[in-house]
Amino acid sequence: MPKIVIVGGGYSGITTAKGLAGKDRDVTLVSSTPYLEWGIAASYSLTHPEELHKAVAGKIDPPKGVNLVIGTAVSMTDTEVLLDNQQVLPYDALVIATGLNIPLFRPRLGQSWAERSKEVTEVGNALRKASTVVIAGGGPIAVEFAGDVREVNPSAKVTLVCSGDRALPYLNWEYRRKLDKMLKTLNIEVLTNERVTDEEHSITKKELTLSSGKTLEADCFIPAYTRGYGAGWTGLADSSGKIPVNKHLQCESAPKVFAVGCSTLSKMSEQWKIIFEASTVQSNVVKFLKNSSLSTHFDHHFNVTHPKTQKIGASTFAWYDLTQMFINIKAWPFLCGFPFFPGCLCGCDVMACGYCCNYPEGAGTARQLTKSMYQAAELGQKLGTAPEQQEMK
Ligand SMILES: Cc1cc2nc3c(=O)[nH]c(=O)nc-3n(C[C@H](O)[C@H](O)[C@H](O)COP(=O)(O)OP(=O)(O)OC[C@H]3O[C@@H](n4cnc5c(N)ncnc54)[C@H](O)[C@@H]3O)c2cc1C
Repeated sequence: MPKIVIVGGGYSGITTAKGLAGKDRDVTLVSSTPYLEWGIAASYSLTHPEELHKAVAGKIDPPKGVNLVIGTAVSMTDTEVLLDNQQVLPYDALVIATGLNIPLFRPRLGQSWAERSKEVTEVGNALRKASTVVIAGGGPIAVEFAGDVREVNPSAKVTLVCSGDRALPYLNWEYRRKLDKMLKTLNIEVLTNERVTDEEHSITKKELTLSSGKTLEADCFIPAYTRGYGAGWTGLADSSGKIPVNKHLQCESAPKVFAVGCSTLSKMSEQWKIIFEASTVQSNVVKFLKNSSLSTHFDHHFNVTHPKTQKIGASTFAWYDLTQMFINIKAWPFLCGFPFFPGCLCGCDVMACGYCCNYPEGAGTARQLTKSMYQAAELGQKLGTAPEQQEMK
């Protein structure tokens, strides 16, 4: 029976494992933690630690027909994966699904649930008490997090330090204006063209040094940017930690190896892109094992180049950038015949948004997205059982 090993017990790994499980295959999923934390909820969980358990499956129940192994992959050869606990996993096909590296917003490799819940609780409590909070990063996670911090701590001085000349530089002018206005309303100061030299988060008073040599005092310092992808351990990855792949999502230099969510074809880490990548890899792994020719990967979300949704606080403000779904949703009423058709026909996949045929944005959208984030987390929880609540205390 051919052996398939999937490394990474996150959304990419589990989605791929589900589709590969079969009677004639021996599928093993390697997760560095015995629990699964829903990454999308990270900003909210860090500011609302008492709700962390809602976004966590305490124990991963692997898809039917899949063996679950808890351990961290540290190296690999052409035929085997070696884990930190010295376990050796032989493979005929290997799927790398080790995601993004974003400290604090994702559990550390091998971090126990007790350590993780303690860490999130301490950070959340410190953020609520802090007089000064410095957040490093000008991307979507940093902006969402700054809004969440403001919601739980209305009086703190919150500073966002961006290395570029603005936060979310990919936005069009309309959304740049909205973002700037919202950051001003929330009294979030933005320092541009600066980097904080520290890379570790801290929740005790600290003087931070910026790239310009200036200093900044912070009761809490939270770096909120990615440190690249997590496939470095394979020895196959490029400098950003991604696996270089061909059009079949197959590693160029190691044909038995495929990648989901962390390949050079993964332009950004996003759920829908992952679903399509997992589907290509599932079918190509099976074809590879049968010596058949492989399918070409097609990214059905090819027009999505930056996050479709952006929250600035869980119930303060958010937008759903429909230009990322279709060319311009404002044109859709004319195309679909609105208002003469009953119901929402725009297919924007936010049917419940209440802002039909316009850019949905505002506090309502923020709450809607937060709600759907947890609905999705509940789906994720079906993969496992809820964590022990007493460990949260
Ligand atoms: C605050 C925040 C908000 C987000 N919002 C959105 C959103 O609105 N929409 C959206 O689509 N996406 C969003 N994302 C991104 C989303 O979380 C990722 O797209 C998704 O989690 C990627 O799944 P993944 O399985 O590829 O990676 P991960 O979720 O990072 O999972 C990778 C897994 O691999 C494990 N692993 C890594 N290295 C090893 C190793 N050597 N051995 C064993 N295991 C290993 C890790 O422990 C982890 O469990 C957000 C992320 C954050 C942090």
